[in-house]
Amino acid sequence: VQAFADRAGRPPGLGIVLVGDDPASHVYVRNKVRSGSETGLFVDLVQLPADAPLDEVAKAVERMNASDRHDGILVQSPLPRALGADAARRIFDLIDPHKDVDGFTAENVGRLVQNRPGLLPCTPAGVMELLRREDVPLAGRRAVVVGRSEIVGKPMALLLLHRDATVTVCHSKTPELAAVCAEADVLVAAVGRAAFVTSAFVKPGATVIDVGINRVDREDEARRIWTDPARIDQLRAKGSLLVGDVHPSVREVAGALTPVPGGVGPLTIAMLLSNTLTAGRRRLGDVG
Ligand code: NDP
Repeated sequence: VQAFADRAGRPPGLGIVLVGDDPASHVYVRNKVRSGSETGLFVDLVQLPADAPLDEVAKAVERMNASDRHDGILVQSPLPRALGADAARRIFDLIDPHKDVDGFTAENVGRLVQNRPGLLPCTPAGVMELLRREDVPLAGRRAVVVGRSEIVGKPMALLLLHRDATVTVCHSKTPELAAVCAEADVLVAAVGRAAFVTSAFVKPGATVIDVGINRVDREDEARRIWTDPARIDQLRAKGSLLVGDVHPSVREVAGALTPVPGGVGPLTIAMLLSNTLTAGRRRLGDVG
């Protein structure tokens, strides 16, 4: 970031558009703003009310597209339902692909499919970074991804495929899900269901990546997940606890398991900052 700032005469810039008052989105955006600022980025947060018309959201994106100070643009999803079912797609389509630090535009998705340089979706890119740094072998290994969303499951499967893993993608219509997962050397859970992946899904010694972030606020559900009575006390004190898509008992079977909170979540933010710097350096002509 410092080297960029020295060359460009300005820090890398990240524009964030946040629409509405979804509490989880506000937490995610607050973390992104804080991490970006701490890293020395210029962060421009535009907050719009839940009843803002789509035109106004579009204008915020277009202003950032045209700005020299903005290297990256992120529109926090989900957008309010009132904007319509296709609002996110329409807004993402407006983002200049060179500034698309979430990697959601058709151009960057196409580049990902073709394994060409582009901007990668932050969560799966973070998972790959984690696997790389931990030296988890992928070539020729079986990888199973549970979830096929545009932002996690699908790009995750493609990135693993590009590293020569043999990839299976599972979803809500997959029969014998546990048995399919239990074939994986690397299992990625991106389901959005608290502690859904139990030991029955995991081959002993497998690397398990827990992408899920779920809030548990019911005591009976917490008891299904945690046997430690201290956790129930914590739940009573805080009102809710975070848990991934993977049941904590999987730790006893897996060779390695990412924690929630503190695993893929912070890496997702790190990759957002990294994408912003990459986008800025490309605009400077520094990298291909
Ligand atoms: P989506 O809800 O968009 O997708 C969930 C996927 O899981 C779908 O493909 C769905 O299948 C599948 N699924 C749901 N239920 C089942 C089931 N019973 N059996 C098998 N598959 C099932 O979620 P996201 O991909 O956006 O997010 C997944 C999780 O990751 C969430 O907990 C989210 O909070 C978290 N997340 C974390 C991030 C981070 O920074 N760590 C970033 C983004 C997300 P189908 O397609 O058939 O409906």
